[in-house]
Amino acid sequence: MLQLARRMGRAKPSAIMAVAEKAKSLKAAGRDIISFSIGVPNFLPAEHVYAAARDALGKDSGQYGSNRGSDALLDAFLKHIEATGLTGYTRANCSTGIGAKHVLYNLAEALLDEGDTIAYAVPYWTTYADIAEICNAKSLELPCPASQNYKLTPAQLDAALASKPKIFLFNNPNNPTGMVYTKDEISALADVLVKYPDTWIVTDDIYNRMVFDGLGYHNFVHFQPSLRDRVIFVDSLSKTYGMPGWRVGFMVGPELVAKALTTLNSNHITNIPEVVTAAAIAALTGPQDVPTSKNAEFQAKRDQVMAVMNSIPGVICPKPQGAFYVFPDISCAFGKSHDGKKIENDVDLCNLLLEAKGVACVPGSAFGEPRALRISYTCPTAQLPEGLKRFKEFFAELA
Ligand code: PLP
Repeated sequence: MLQLARRMGRAKPSAIMAVAEKAKSLKAAGRDIISFSIGVPNFLPAEHVYAAARDALGKDSGQYGSNRGSDALLDAFLKHIEATGLTGYTRANCSTGIGAKHVLYNLAEALLDEGDTIAYAVPYWTTYADIAEICNAKSLELPCPASQNYKLTPAQLDAALASKPKIFLFNNPNNPTGMVYTKDEISALADVLVKYPDTWIVTDDIYNRMVFDGLGYHNFVHFQPSLRDRVIFVDSLSKTYGMPGWRVGFMVGPELVAKALTTLNSNHITNIPEVVTAAAIAALTGPQDVPTSKNAEFQAKRDQVMAVMNSIPGVICPKPQGAFYVFPDISCAFGKSHDGKKIENDVDLCNLLLEAKGVACVPGSAFGEPRALRISYTCPTAQLPEGLKRFKEFFAELA
């Protein structure tokens, strides 16, 4: 009998897309749906990005390009990350991919042998667990519930690294929680990381420009420069510049790793297309009004969401300080009913919320935390109060 590879038995379609699809079909059927489900920015790239792409169309060589990324693109990226305090790297430390998701898959292929362990905090961005499954690696999940602000503690990290996982995968600011680690928290985790030289450290920090309340972004290498030998910083244009569909991701880290990813690119994608490269350079080097002005907007929306979360009895919601997500623990609703329909878990709650109120959220189980759900507040600003009003009504109607 013809069969797919065994690994496909472990690969699952994205749970986030499943909610989005359901919301879309209800909308197509005429329902008034407000989507808090998909984590995409609600703005387009700046005009200078389009202008660069249009200009490049006229000059496109139509040829294969560099597997690592063009020199101009890598230089633009290096300059960009200097503002994040990551300095002293060269093109040889960099590689690119078709979005950060592709860079992360490349890293898993480059660093993990079958049976190796990858450690990460829970809640996690869904793809982490899928990458581990597809690579036949073991996941070491480190539970970080709402009661500890969804943050990993140094003691937890210490205990996890003692078992020598091949990779520690870290995500800050975090999807799905929106939490941002403070300077002191990153410094304390970095002190633990130096003790375990056999573990690669991947910092998936694609929301590093989306930090509120003047908190700032911090990386382990800022506090322990020796970690540069094994920290791999991953970044993307998707969220910062409103360019998720353009598919541009990067890494900077040890030359050995950057070279390995470039070799994988030579066998997978070959190169980022010329027109996309031109748009990416324009985004990285042009006026930075887009990320800067959007932060103020997101922070105001975060405050609106938090005001409602804090007003619902039983809902526990640590205050996020970055990205565009809020991740309330809604387990107070389990065992109750809405309109006679019983809520056993997060999936029931999200389904009923969508059916009864037309509000789409992603069940926390998609992120390994079934006591919560994710609200992405990138919907049009005018829709947010109405969506939140319906959310609150739903909880008030529970019996
Ligand atoms: N990492 C995190 C934490 C994300 O939330 C996402 C996208 O939602 C990605 C990586 C992938 O980003 P990209 O669009 O660059 O593939």
